[in-house]
Amino acid sequence: MTDTLTKERRSWTMAQIHSKNTKPELIVRKLCFGMGFRYRLQGRVSKKVCPKGFLPGHPDLVFRKLKSVIFVNGCFWHQHSDKNCKASRIPKSNIEFWTKKFERNVERDQRNLKELQNIGWHTLVIWECELKNLNAVKNKIEQFLNSKEIQYLETSNDYLQVAEDSN
Ligand SMILES: [Zn+2]
Repeated sequence: MTDTLTKERRSWTMAQIHSKNTKPELIVRKLCFGMGFRYRLQGRVSKKVCPKGFLPGHPDLVFRKLKSVIFVNGCFWHQHSDKNCKASRIPKSNIEFWTKKFERNVERDQRNLKELQNIGWHTLVIWECELKNLNAVKNKIEQFLNSKEIQYLETSNDYLQVAEDSN
């Protein structure tokens, strides 16, 4: 696999690996934490919630009580469909290889989102390139999670317990 990466792409990948502190998931985790939301990582849930012990697609952040998940997607691997996204461009060599690979990735992502929605989970996808504007991302997350929190409060009478039993 690695061999098929273009030189340009490889150096980009290496840069991603080495810049641990700016990893997109970490940025989103920090934002959520700062907003007071607690979460589990990589789709982990109890077997009661999902028999496999994890949710379809291993969402990056799981907000169990709110039945909500956030995926933080790299624009390249997950092929961000936004026209303005430069990071999602298909490399110029091995076009066929990449096209097929990306088709599979996109299909898998769509299948996972659908599966999650089918079992009653709310989903939000944050794209890597969106992180250029952290305030916008913060608002997006806030809107997404706060609306679920209100729903949760309306249907639950053990909120006080929840506040202490944060994921
Ligand atoms: Zn993008």
